[in-house]
Amino acid sequence: VAKKERNTCKIYSPSMNDVPKKEIMLENSMLNALELGQFMLYYQPKIDVKTGRINGAEALIRWKHPELGMVSPLDFIPIAEKTGFIIPLGEWVLYTACRQMSEWERMGLPRLTVSVNMSMIQFQQKQIVHTIERILSDAGIRPEQIELEITESIFMDNQEYTLKILHELQQLGVKLSLDDFGTGYSSLSYLQNIPLHTLKLDKSFISDIVSDYKKQMIFKSVVVIAHNLNLRVVTEGVETEEELRVIREHNCDAVQGYIFSPPVPAPKFAKLYMDHLTA
Ligand code: C2E
Ligand code: CA
Ligand code: CA
Ligand code: CA
Repeated sequence: VAKKERNTCKIYSPSMNDVPKKEIMLENSMLNALELGQFMLYYQPKIDVKTGRINGAEALIRWKHPELGMVSPLDFIPIAEKTGFIIPLGEWVLYTACRQMSEWERMGLPRLTVSVNMSMIQFQQKQIVHTIERILSDAGIRPEQIELEITESIFMDNQEYTLKILHELQQLGVKLSLDDFGTGYSSLSYLQNIPLHTLKLDKSFISDIVSDYKKQMIFKSVVVIAHNLNLRVVTEGVETEEELRVIREHNCDAVQGYIFSPPVPAPKFAKLYMDHLTA
């Protein structure tokens, strides 16, 4: 815990007096924001590279702040992690995403996998597997329909314990995706130890890929390694046709990015999915 706190502390140091006003404001108004219904989930489609079809969505949280407008999760998730508010917030995210899936099913939309981001703080909860199981069953969702996006940061505290939790989640039936691969200290050893379903390549993997031959070779090799380990590969942050061409050439399975759609509110996602099916 100490290590984690040291890392997240930098925005609050050296003294509380230096904390930007906006952060204090966010921290104070966060507690009520959940009750006031100010959080919402946006959904960004994931597209199967071979078929060109939507085959999933990532749920991304948004905060509609009454004074500040739309606040980015990059601004408030770190605060929520520091204060512990990420625990109820993370449960709300999972429950809301599951309820949304049930609703889409009722509307007659073909089933898709929804991915939900998990914070490392959530993995420090003793009851995490039980909590996830309860939320899924409350929402009437089968575990196979959910993919949890985790990052390497969850291994910072206690590797063995975290691995045990991940194996329990695999037993439960939820899929696990390693997010932001290619940033930080991405290590191939994670790939052999975690019961993963998907490897998510960070945007940095493909920026400049069109003009950078070495980058293309690294991308190509990582896809081969992942496939040999039976992992699906998703590339995120795809913005241009040229990037998509390179990605397709190297057999990546799915893409996510502005080239298809930014994250959008649930009704808009449903429409996108529906139009897409009949196109
Ligand atoms: P992430 O999980 O890596 O999510 C991908 C981010 O890339 C999203 O930013 C998405 O809007 C953005 N993105 C998608 N396509 C493109 C593209 O083509 N180009 C560029 N430049 N960006 C693209 P967003 O929604 O602002 O989320 C930022 C981060 O906040 C997420 O990064 C994730 O780490 C965190 N986050 C978001 N929602 C949640 C949540 O419900 N729980 C937790 N714990 N973290 C969340
Ligand atoms: Ca993610
Ligand atoms: Ca990511
Ligand atoms: Ca991220």
